[in-house]
Amino acid sequence: MEKICVAVRVRPLVSTDSVNGSFWKVEDNRISLHKIHGTPFSGSSYAFDHIFDESSTNSSVYEHLTKDIILAALNGFNGTAFAYGQTSSGKTFTMNGCETDPGVIPRAVKDIFAKIETMSEREFLIRVSYMEIYNEEINDLLVVESQKLQIHESLERGVFVAGLREEVVNNAEQVLDLIKAGEVNRHFGETNMNVRSSRSHTIFRMVIESKGKDSNSSDDSSINDIVRVSVLNLVDLAGSERIAKTGADGVRLKEGKYINKSLMVLGNVINKLSEGSKQRGHIPYRDSKLTRILQPALGGNAKTSIICTVAPEEVHIEETKGTLQFASRAK
Ligand code: ADP
Ligand code: MG
Repeated sequence: MEKICVAVRVRPLVSTDSVNGSFWKVEDNRISLHKIHGTPFSGSSYAFDHIFDESSTNSSVYEHLTKDIILAALNGFNGTAFAYGQTSSGKTFTMNGCETDPGVIPRAVKDIFAKIETMSEREFLIRVSYMEIYNEEINDLLVVESQKLQIHESLERGVFVAGLREEVVNNAEQVLDLIKAGEVNRHFGETNMNVRSSRSHTIFRMVIESKGKDSNSSDDSSINDIVRVSVLNLVDLAGSERIAKTGADGVRLKEGKYINKSLMVLGNVINKLSEGSKQRGHIPYRDSKLTRILQPALGGNAKTSIICTVAPEEVHIEETKGTLQFASRAK
């Protein structure tokens, strides 16, 4: 069992709540609350595999946290990278990035195709899918109006999302165009894009299949004959903020319950996995659609990383503590 790599990223001050500056201090791999109501304070600190401070770039997050997962995926290992955190803490910025500093997803896509170029002894077939889980319903983002897909299980395929579109792709540009089209498909539905995206989990998936090029011509059973298939999931999770019971209307309350439940199940699954194989016992993959879909690429030989994004402003202190606690449980 691979160790799950857990990191924290503090976003820069960008909101209108930022007049009092950042309330968190980063020193190496430790983060601590260092102000209360604007006055200096020396509180307890949390330690992680890696902490990215406010000046960190998507490039360095990718290098430290995701690159190895991508390289392993090309060699047949499943992998999953998550962004966890409250809305506005920088999950989407980390996963998608911006023009000047592309995020983990575009970097992974480019790296995969660049690497394939250098692996001339193997032949690759790459398939991409893109889905969101909203209120425990699975929607295909590569299809304009296909909604509510079901999870099935078979001996041959294991756990899979029935009817999920898988596009065969040949280059990075094609994949990035598909992602753009997927974002447009998200506009459909009753809520606006921002609200919707903060309340749904988004799973970008690449299935990487390869075999040795001369496997047909050689009659000895060389290593080349082995077909490798791996699944890589890059996941932008729904906002982890607790939704106030008072004030939330019916729809918000329902969304909140589903989000809280699936993130709790994810926390439980990851916590079990990180306990190590002996104490582990039953792993509750089946308790949410998110963990069920990701099951084949969590645990076992799969490589997993989690970047927990936090907002540095005073108004977000309680949510930030919640995120750091989630991160601590995942270690
Ligand atoms: P989330 O997806 O967690 O809701 P976003 O990624 O949308 O949060 O980030 C909220 C805002 O902060 C966005 O305007 C985003 O561009 C900005 N932002 C987040 N992280 C960074 C960063 N590291 N550097 C610059 N801007 C950032
Ligand atoms: Mg987002």
